[in-house]
Amino acid sequence: MAARKLAITGGRVIDPKQGFDGLADVLISGDVIEDVTSCSSMESYEDYEVVNASGKIVAPGFVDLHTHLRDPGQEWKETILSGTRAAAHGGFTTVCAMPNTDPVQDSAAVVDDVTRRASHYGLIRVLPIGAISKGQKGKHLSPMGELADAGVIGFSDDGNPVSDANLMRQALSYSVGLGLPIINHAEEKQIAAGGVMSAGRVATRLGLAGMPVEAESVMVSRDLDLADLEGARLHIPHISTIGSLIALRSAKERGVDVTAEVTPHHLTLNDDWVFGLHGDVPDAVGLEAYDTNTKVNPPLRSPDHVNAVIEALSEGLIDVIATDHAPHAVTDKACTYNEAAYGINVLETAFSSVFALVDAGKVSINRLIESLTSGPAGILNKDIGTLTKGYSADVAIIDLGKKWVVVPEKFESKSTNSPLSGLELKSRVIITIYRGEIVFSLAGHLPETHGADR
Ligand SMILES: [Zn+2]
Repeated sequence: MAARKLAITGGRVIDPKQGFDGLADVLISGDVIEDVTSCSSMESYEDYEVVNASGKIVAPGFVDLHTHLRDPGQEWKETILSGTRAAAHGGFTTVCAMPNTDPVQDSAAVVDDVTRRASHYGLIRVLPIGAISKGQKGKHLSPMGELADAGVIGFSDDGNPVSDANLMRQALSYSVGLGLPIINHAEEKQIAAGGVMSAGRVATRLGLAGMPVEAESVMVSRDLDLADLEGARLHIPHISTIGSLIALRSAKERGVDVTAEVTPHHLTLNDDWVFGLHGDVPDAVGLEAYDTNTKVNPPLRSPDHVNAVIEALSEGLIDVIATDHAPHAVTDKACTYNEAAYGINVLETAFSSVFALVDAGKVSINRLIESLTSGPAGILNKDIGTLTKGYSADVAIIDLGKKWVVVPEKFESKSTNSPLSGLELKSRVIITIYRGEIVFSLAGHLPETHGADR
């Protein structure tokens, strides 16, 4: 049987890796990109199924460096199947799975299990991240060489910071020989102690304990110094404060091998959102004073920090956007702010929420797509995140004009913990293609078959 052929015609193709932005047809043969060619008449695509993308953006499938799939161990929150389905709905064709599962991904056996089940149940590519320390307890290093051999793309104790500076130094030292980055959740617990949101005006008004922004920047600075000392690669997840950005800029200027990511929520929500009114501030604080779906770690920051991370993403100081998709059950959030779990459900709203910054003229569409495709692919050092001929046919087709209302109950994710519930967003991924197969299509956007003999 001949390989399935797909032609995505007439769209505005944006492929930052190749510096391409223009009207073109993307041709797929089997599971690889056959060509990107100037638009031609339909007759030449007789052997192809055709997806008409005129008026739409055609981009490489998105790559997420930071996803919590909760599988194995917390399958009531998410599974590899539901998580990859949610990812496909958001335009993602690759997700990197954080190791804070149960059991923790701190041995080849657990990593092999995730990889094997992901290739069976996953709709898209799942790349595992290995734990830095055994059980993510921060006491003893995990078998990093064994994990590297099992195929992890980096090491992280995410959820927990590596508090012991000497353990962090050892992890960085070992990572050099393995050629993989260390990804440390930067939070100095001694300083953050007891805080459930960012310290400031809103925390004071709600009577909630606040974490100072320095809880993040102190550890970012430490990690940058240790990476410099060991000549190791550091990737800073979910950067969110001005102080962290100052340290990042200084480190990049002196040649430290560092990259950084920012989440959609740290780019688009500030701590006023904790009131649960989509950013509005109430005249009086009543019984329903807050929305626990805004509780996340690092916490939502005040507007000056939000503006700083937007600028840093736009100029490229922050390298990429990563979701930190953290699904939680209703019972983890139907409680007081103090008791609620940290984490936001992001995969299905990521692109659309950040697109508001493009609409506002703060970030270019090319930079947004780069930060979701070639940017993270470059950090992974993998041949993905581009429409280059011969590469995996991973594609996201986006309708920038499409408006939709966020209804978390309709998420493909098993969890609904989104503070965007009820919000109208503009722009939506309408088709996602992974290795040449359509893994998500919004109703009404299926391909037309033109006499294809398959
Ligand atoms: Zn984290």
